[in-house]
Amino acid sequence: MNKFDVIIIGAGPGGIFSSYELIRNKPEYRIAVFEAGHPLAMRKCPTDGKKIKNCIHCKSCSIMSGFGGAGAFSDGKYNITNDFGGTLYEYIGKQKALELMKYVDDINMQYGGEGTRLFSTAGTKFKKLCIQNKLKLLDASVRHLGTDINYVVLENIYNELKDKVEFFFDTPVQSIKVLDGGYGVVCEGGTYECDKCIVSVGRSGSKWMEHVCGELQIPTKSNRVDIGVRVELPAVIFSHLTDELYESKIVYRTQQFEDNVRTFCMNPKGIVVNENTNGIITVNGHSYEGEDKQTENTNFALLVAKHFSEPFKDSNGYGESIARLSNMLGGGVIVQRFGDLIRGRRSNEKRMEEGLVRPTLSATPGDLSLVLPKRILDGIIEMIYALDKIAPGTANDDTLLYGVEVKFYNMEVELNEHLECRYEGLYIIGDGSGVTHSLSHASASGIYVARDICGMNDTENSGE
Ligand SMILES: Cc1cc2nc3c(=O)[nH]c(=O)nc-3n(C[C@H](O)[C@H](O)[C@H](O)COP(=O)(O)OP(=O)(O)OC[C@H]3O[C@@H](n4cnc5c(N)ncnc54)[C@H](O)[C@@H]3O)c2cc1C
Repeated sequence: MNKFDVIIIGAGPGGIFSSYELIRNKPEYRIAVFEAGHPLAMRKCPTDGKKIKNCIHCKSCSIMSGFGGAGAFSDGKYNITNDFGGTLYEYIGKQKALELMKYVDDINMQYGGEGTRLFSTAGTKFKKLCIQNKLKLLDASVRHLGTDINYVVLENIYNELKDKVEFFFDTPVQSIKVLDGGYGVVCEGGTYECDKCIVSVGRSGSKWMEHVCGELQIPTKSNRVDIGVRVELPAVIFSHLTDELYESKIVYRTQQFEDNVRTFCMNPKGIVVNENTNGIITVNGHSYEGEDKQTENTNFALLVAKHFSEPFKDSNGYGESIARLSNMLGGGVIVQRFGDLIRGRRSNEKRMEEGLVRPTLSATPGDLSLVLPKRILDGIIEMIYALDKIAPGTANDDTLLYGVEVKFYNMEVELNEHLECRYEGLYIIGDGSGVTHSLSHASASGIYVARDICGMNDTENSGE
């Protein structure tokens, strides 16, 4: 009874799309999905901003875990591009990666996303405007499902899968054992065996993944973390960009240090939210497609990538320490008016009250210069002034900065062109592999390995 053809660990986009493609091509397979979090309908973060203001560290964080993974309450922005969101193309080739991202988009449309908009940077006038102001607009098509439609799509896909795949919710996998001709997946209640195993544990499973790689002696490397703030301002300031492009990924090279600062995860008329990674509270954002849930503000992150060289190896630990500092000072996320930051003073309740931008997240007014390293903060300030040239008003005193936003990168697992680690039939995909950092790339990696298991991939042209 405990023997499966394929076991998938993690029911985020990587796990969902691999199970979808497996049952489509091999309906006779017995497939199990083990998920540490709850079923979709049971996922509820208790933080309501009123009675429960800050994260209470639930056993399973409903924002990050459960059916739908970290993406379930996300803005549902599927960026169809090789320019950002991961390096899947390095393993499977650029053309294949784009083809699979488009295939995922087709599935999303079929399961409730129809009617949502696909934005594109192709032929836009903003490219020129950005270049004229020392900014670079990256190429992408972006499907914006919105948090509400994203949920509907997940619900519909779950209904499609639930009778064909065996789901084990609230069942964290403890370890993986290499058996003769297969794998043993060890949970509290017992060990389950399979011929092939797909590991798709995302960011919340990063520590566990490190542990498994250590135990099975799977080579890894890790040297990057992105640190910054989430900017919130009146939606009209960015509306000329967001109306046409929805999300614009813009890169700025700072004059002072020649660091790259980039915009990330833009949420027109959205809200700023808490994110909990391994007990540390950072900031993120999302927005809704339905007009009734939209706000007057737009938010986006400004991030600086930090790459470390020998002997330092713990880039995520570095990011965590900075986030911990903000948690120590603010009890969670800190918010500061740009005008206060520039004048070298903390924001307080009074200054926030007097400001013209109403925060959408209840955060503690404070001083981000006590948290962020100077080099990173200087880069962010420079970029805010650069953005002010293409979106006047960005550098207004009342613009809000929430900190810190940290983008943790899972250590990169050494994989071949099949996305298998050193053990044949043990696939490591999605954000947990360090190869992807986005919904579309993680989903595409799921489709890719499912097809590999079904013997449908031609890997001759991959890794171009
Ligand atoms: C608030 C928020 C907004 C976001 N917005 C966007 C966006 O608009 N666009 C975009 O491209 N990306 C966005 N992202 C990132 C995106 O959600 C991730 O890139 C994507 O979900 C990665 O998919 P995944 O399947 O690799 O991992 P995840 O979605 O993280 O799923 C992994 C799953 O594995 C489970 N798991 C972990 N360890 C174990 C274990 N030991 N045993 C069993 N199960 C385990 C977890 O509970 C989780 O459900 C957002 C993320 C957040 C948090």
